[in-house]
Amino acid sequence: MQYVTLNDGRAMPQLGFGVWQVPDDEAEAVVSTALEVGYRSIDTARIYDNEKGTGRALAESGIAREELFVTTKLWNDDQGYDSALKAFDASLERLGLDYVDLYLIHWPRPRQDAYVDTWRALERIRSEGRARSIGVSNFTAATLDRLVAETDVVPVLNQIELHPYHSQEAMREVNARHGVLTEAWSPLGQGKGLLDDPVLTDLADRYGRTPAQVVLRWHLQLGNVVIPKSATPSRIRENFEVFDFELSAEDMDRVGALDRGGRIGPDPDTFG
Ligand code: NAD
Repeated sequence: MQYVTLNDGRAMPQLGFGVWQVPDDEAEAVVSTALEVGYRSIDTARIYDNEKGTGRALAESGIAREELFVTTKLWNDDQGYDSALKAFDASLERLGLDYVDLYLIHWPRPRQDAYVDTWRALERIRSEGRARSIGVSNFTAATLDRLVAETDVVPVLNQIELHPYHSQEAMREVNARHGVLTEAWSPLGQGKGLLDDPVLTDLADRYGRTPAQVVLRWHLQLGNVVIPKSATPSRIRENFEVFDFELSAEDMDRVGALDRGGRIGPDPDTFG
């Protein structure tokens, strides 16, 4: 496992496991498989409705708490100072933990204009040690610039949609300018389409790997934190076996050139 260092000095596995769309009654088995394979970082959210199943897998794993890195996120209708504090307590309770490693604001919702107040609640949660690190998700240049200007703690990372068809070069630069790491959600472009791209299947053949492994390797070499999801044990393992090969600079560029600027998910300026 490779680790990155966050701007608050803490270490985070560069490769983690996402659990969006895993039903709560399946989360325990799926997360247990991921932990057996070797993943130590798990990315959930209140809105995924699987914090309980995820928490059961963590508890039953027998893995020391300090070796795990657990992320959850504050949902849109919980924005605001008091409601964020309450939402955090409820997430922690469902996970069955004393603290999370990382707590994120899931979407900025700029029209609601509550993300600065919400962030102050996250700063308090962090100062109490109940979230060791705090960060954001889906923040744009405007919302991140304002958050950094008006509050005390700089987010450790910004989790954004990022895959070869939407490589987010400009937003990666904005994050880097603030010392904020970029974490890629839907890093495999949700599988469909992207993984059949002839550039990727060609590279996969040349490296003796799968297209998913080539894409994950591209993320790691860019410096992104990455959280692929799969419910299939063989793919969970495949997505973890990415630390024993390297793409050449030329092949990194070939993957980077696939960018079409086309997002799969919602627009952060209007979503929510
Ligand atoms: P992903 O890019 O990780 O793709 C997952 C899908 O790709 C799987 O369901 C499967 O169909 C396919 N797949 C996975 N491994 C494969 C393999 N080795 N070979 C072939 N196909 C494979 O998409 P995702 O689940 O949307 O994103 C990953 C994680 O990011 C989520 O689980 C969640 O934790 C996080 N996320 C966050 C946000 C946000 O707003 N912050 C939004 C979406 C996702």
